[in-house]
Amino acid sequence: MNLPDRAQIVVIGGGIIGCSTAYHLARDHKADVVLLEQGKLTSGSTWHAAGLVGQLRSSASITRVLKYSVDLYRRLDAETGLATGWKMTGCLRLATNADRWTEFKRLATTARSFGMDMHLLSPAEVKAMWPLMETGDLVGASWLPTDGQASPSDITQSLARGARMHGARIVEGVRVTGFAMEGRRIRAVKTDKGDIACDKVVNCAGQWARQVGAMAGISVPLQPVRHQYIISERIPGLATDAPTIRDPDRRTYFKEEVGGLVMGGYEPNPQPWTTDLPDGDVPDDWEFRLFDDDYDHFEQHMSQALARVPALAEVGVKQMINGPESFTPDGNFILGVAPECDNMFVGAGFNAFGIASGGGAGWVLAEWTVSGEAPLDLWVVDIRRFSGLHRDRQWVCDRTLEAYGKHYTIAFPHEEYESGRPRIVSPLYERLKARRAVFGSKLGWERPNWFAPQGIDPRDVYSMGRQNWFGPVGEEHRHVRDVVGIFDQSSFAKYEVRGADAERALDWICANDVTRPPGRVTYTQLLNTRGGIEADLTVARLAPDRFYIVTGTGFRTHDLAWIRDHLSDGAKVDLADVTEEYGTLSLMGSRAREVLQNVTSADVSNAAFPFAHIREIRIAGQAVRAIRITYVGELGWELHVPIGAIGEVFDALMAAGKGAGVRPVGYRALESLRLEKGYRAWGSDITPNDTPIEAGLAWAVKMRRNVPFMGRAALEAQAGKLPAKRFAGFLIDDPETVLVGRETILRDGEAVGYLTSGGYGYTLQKSIGYGYVRNGGGVSDDHLLSGTYELVVANEIVPARIGLMPFFDPAGDRVRV
Ligand SMILES: Cc1cc2nc3c(=O)[nH]c(=O)nc-3n(C[C@H](O)[C@H](O)[C@H](O)COP(=O)(O)OP(=O)(O)OC[C@H]3O[C@@H](n4cnc5c(N)ncnc54)[C@H](O)[C@@H]3O)c2cc1C
Repeated sequence: MNLPDRAQIVVIGGGIIGCSTAYHLARDHKADVVLLEQGKLTSGSTWHAAGLVGQLRSSASITRVLKYSVDLYRRLDAETGLATGWKMTGCLRLATNADRWTEFKRLATTARSFGMDMHLLSPAEVKAMWPLMETGDLVGASWLPTDGQASPSDITQSLARGARMHGARIVEGVRVTGFAMEGRRIRAVKTDKGDIACDKVVNCAGQWARQVGAMAGISVPLQPVRHQYIISERIPGLATDAPTIRDPDRRTYFKEEVGGLVMGGYEPNPQPWTTDLPDGDVPDDWEFRLFDDDYDHFEQHMSQALARVPALAEVGVKQMINGPESFTPDGNFILGVAPECDNMFVGAGFNAFGIASGGGAGWVLAEWTVSGEAPLDLWVVDIRRFSGLHRDRQWVCDRTLEAYGKHYTIAFPHEEYESGRPRIVSPLYERLKARRAVFGSKLGWERPNWFAPQGIDPRDVYSMGRQNWFGPVGEEHRHVRDVVGIFDQSSFAKYEVRGADAERALDWICANDVTRPPGRVTYTQLLNTRGGIEADLTVARLAPDRFYIVTGTGFRTHDLAWIRDHLSDGAKVDLADVTEEYGTLSLMGSRAREVLQNVTSADVSNAAFPFAHIREIRIAGQAVRAIRITYVGELGWELHVPIGAIGEVFDALMAAGKGAGVRPVGYRALESLRLEKGYRAWGSDITPNDTPIEAGLAWAVKMRRNVPFMGRAALEAQAGKLPAKRFAGFLIDDPETVLVGRETILRDGEAVGYLTSGGYGYTLQKSIGYGYVRNGGGVSDDHLLSGTYELVVANEIVPARIGLMPFFDPAGDRVRV
């Protein structure tokens, strides 16, 4: 096919992701699509994939994406006439120790929460299903009957044919060599065969996606890693419909293929693929190519596999596949519109589950490309979860290898990555370390999670039950409730919005009323066109034409991009990221005022400095932006301090608060405090899938002001009707129950939702969870309160009490249900 000189959308890359995206663009949106592939279709990573298709992930949305893939692979051949090789064999995951078994019990609960049936089997049942397996060391296995396997090349060819049938043009043998830019937009795609003018570009270039992105100034933080598997000769007695196996304690996986076994694994010492080309680039000419077999490296998997399936030793190895695949620093793939460019969308970095994801990823990416908005909560894979830090190739490589190495390790709750740390530190880092802070990391920032008292090793010791920090964090929690604590929250993302049109622009973007006079602070959500919550932040008005916005550390790139993308064209607004200019100290607790008054001559009485106000006050000679607000349910201020002076201000507060008993506290206490108070966390409790009405945040929406704002129409359509789901809290009386999130909510014995957050409240001395209760006929207060509730926690049913108000009530008896 000749290269057209114009297309509405150009998709780069003819692997499974590009073909699926082109298929969905053409089928669902009738878009004018051209797909460009430098070699032949499938010639990148797709052709050599093993073809295992699993569906369950820890995110409900990503599980939905993977379920969509399976559904598509099952029926695609009916549409296109090309089979996908889909076989619903089911998948067995093997557990050989108690922690793994607990992990599986939680997984089975997650599966139930997400509408899937995962069963837990005894070793005898496993043996009956897979007689060639050695089961002597098993505690048991999980069994997901709807998982399976497919042929990666066949799926891709079938998708390509489907795309063509719906009008997409697919051109092989054309290499994209650059982009003609106009400001932040791509005007045309340059290729070795000529230019194509276009409105939008979708970068599905697999392990080349980083290089393709860089041509438009975009960072796609992925790292190619060598991944190997073998295909054995036929094994007598192996059923052709044998379930796929994941044996994480032995770091290996298996799949039946023409009577033999495919077997591969995830080693703790992975081998990155960086070349001698500039920037370690992947070479252009890597069509249908593999690396040399590396049996020395593979030996670690071979010995484990032989112990599990001894029959493997009796047959030869037909072929070894050693191919590159793109992995990412957090093990999740990369989707969405690039924050650096207005019309490049990305679908890359599939961490060896691109075949499983392909169908669904193409579906959501096509929707995103056409509408400009993610069709569901895709935050965990959103390209805007990264930051400037992810332009550092070495850091990305180190963190990616750590994530690869952890692919099959037991996922303990609260586990932190260790590589590439410390990377970004607050000026208080050494001071806090000297006070025995144990740090976690968020978007590269070191943040104190907790402080180890003398006698307790200052490091996390992970386990499936209560971990070693449980007691100390309780002390920190109580200290904030009863006395006063200081949190170093310098990593908060901070922006300034200035200019003649600043008020008008923010009034459109924010659901709450931010037009209040200077000195006022507004808690608000930013909504998408469905009324879903895209961001949750505070907006402080500094002057008529100047606003200061504070949001969570991890949301820095995302929220900034959302605000920028929704400023109207030509508006006189200047948006600046000032994160590194201010450090943040949150002084919180019943004695916070006493401590603050000791270090400033400003009047910080309630009358002079009420809640939800910002004042510039002086502490230790420094001009500090003090914001009276709380995320812990106690009196408190966020003190935004010029970053260079934060050490002096911290010292002054610690000295002035000595009498009151001030002490530094960490993020884990913050989490417990906010759970008691019912403050929602964006990304879990409130997401683009949830509206403020469903989330119980309608009070923070300016419906009564007759002004348009993003999402208003959707909320108006919802107002007056009973929502189909509503956010509620759950309290567990059994002190031993550990909640980690995703536990199933049962109402009168029926599954009606799952926990979006779970943890422990030390004042209440109870486990606390939050989640949405769903009901087809709508959810009223009466519906919520008339049910009897239980939670499924690690496959056990535990009684729970529902609460519609914050459980912690400082004025009352402190427990409210
Ligand atoms: C050994 C191995 C086993 C695997 N097993 C599984 C498995 O069992 N299950 C599973 O789900 N996943 C598995 N995977 C992962 C899976 O193969 C990938 O996630 C998936 O193929 C990625 O698809 P893609 O479309 O993103 O990339 P690719 O298939 O690499 O496609 C990208 C395409 O872009 C083209 N391209 C790049 N640059 C340009 C340019 N400048 N101009 C034009 N075209 C360009 C390339 O030629 C390439 O064809 C495995 C991977 C490996 C390596």
